[in-house]
Amino acid sequence: MAALRKRVLACVKCEHLAASRQTVVFGVGDIHAKIMFIGEAPGADEDHQGEPFVGRAGELLTKIIVAMGLSRETVFIANILKCRPDTPGQTAGNRKPRPEEMATCIPWLEEQINIIQPQVMVALGATAVEGLLGKTAAGITRLRGTWQSYRGIPLMPTYHPAYLLRNQAITEKRKVWEDMMLAMEKAGYPISAKQRGFFLSKP
Ligand code: URA
Repeated sequence: MAALRKRVLACVKCEHLAASRQTVVFGVGDIHAKIMFIGEAPGADEDHQGEPFVGRAGELLTKIIVAMGLSRETVFIANILKCRPDTPGQTAGNRKPRPEEMATCIPWLEEQINIIQPQVMVALGATAVEGLLGKTAAGITRLRGTWQSYRGIPLMPTYHPAYLLRNQAITEKRKVWEDMMLAMEKAGYPISAKQRGFFLSKP
């Protein structure tokens, strides 16, 4: 993984992204992780720090991982795109990775997956699903909570944590939590009665 990291950090396949980035966001976690979380692309915070999911959405993802009884160190977190999508002429905001950028970058993720050989992958949001599975007829609302397969590895699509920040409804949190319980089960992690009850509204 260290050798791969070196190659990824030197990548200039997308000239425009290599020119605009501050860091290459390789990914973090255990190279023997049972669960891999795949996001979309680094945002400004990630680009500064060189680590995925360290901004507001990242804090929420970290909370979700901790609620699962795991930690950022025991899973592996990576993105479809290792560089922040450039936003020329814009001072704020993010843009979605372009299909050709995703196609250029995905071989790096595939090499990471080959090394880690996770038992389960979790795709965070529609763009991560699109990057892994291509454009699907069904959107993320229909796909989430349903097992897909990425090169033979069970893949659970769920909502991106940024969506949960925009939509604070407990029902949406519960949906993501149910997806996480499916992922935990598949990876062989125990689920306590307390965990089973998270985000169930009291009668
Ligand atoms: N959103 C993502 O999809 N990935 C990150 O690394 C941070 C925010």
